[in-house]
Amino acid sequence: MTQTVAAWVWFAGVVGWYIIRYPFERKAKKIRVRTSRFDWRESSILGFALLGLFAIPCLYVFAGFPASLDRPVVPAIAWLGIVPLCAALWLFRRSHKDLGRNWSISLELREQHALVKTGVYRLIRHPMYTSFFLLGVAQMLLLSNWLADVSGLLGAGAFYAFRIRREEEMMLESFGDDYRTYMAQTKKLVPWII
Ligand code: SAH
Repeated sequence: MTQTVAAWVWFAGVVGWYIIRYPFERKAKKIRVRTSRFDWRESSILGFALLGLFAIPCLYVFAGFPASLDRPVVPAIAWLGIVPLCAALWLFRRSHKDLGRNWSISLELREQHALVKTGVYRLIRHPMYTSFFLLGVAQMLLLSNWLADVSGLLGAGAFYAFRIRREEEMMLESFGDDYRTYMAQTKKLVPWII
């Protein structure tokens, strides 16, 4: 696989990502929010993730910047990148489907919010964030630039480092023992491991 093809594969993945998200964003606008914890911390996390998983790799793919951090192209590694990319898209779609009307881009609880414990949520509490990590791994394998390689993982890491704790606090306040039991039965990102 050439550098150009690998870059286009990555870009197709990001477009697919948005195609999956778009209908959920539209539907979510129609469902009233009961509690919102959207603040500057949330904006920073979302901004940081967008920078690492979209803006920086786009800059590399479309402007070749920063050329000084280019690394050698290894076709076999680029081919390997297709695996986490497909896994990321599958998991992203699956978790949106499972969350349904309870999905929000930020820390929000909707009217008649239900605690979802089925589908992929039966095994892990944050499959959408797992899919961000998988996208970051795909970006690392597909794009041959050191900055673009690490920026996706750092962007996904922002959710792990700064979002999960606050999200779980919010869920605990709202669902109490139900969420506590759910936490005891599941892992955060990787079934049976993390
Ligand atoms: N952290 C989850 C969801 C991300 S979307 C994941 O990675 O898949 C963020 C919103 O989803 C939060 O604001 C919260 O309201 C909602 N949410 C998170 N876990 C949920 C669950 N198990 N059931 C219902 N809603 C949930």
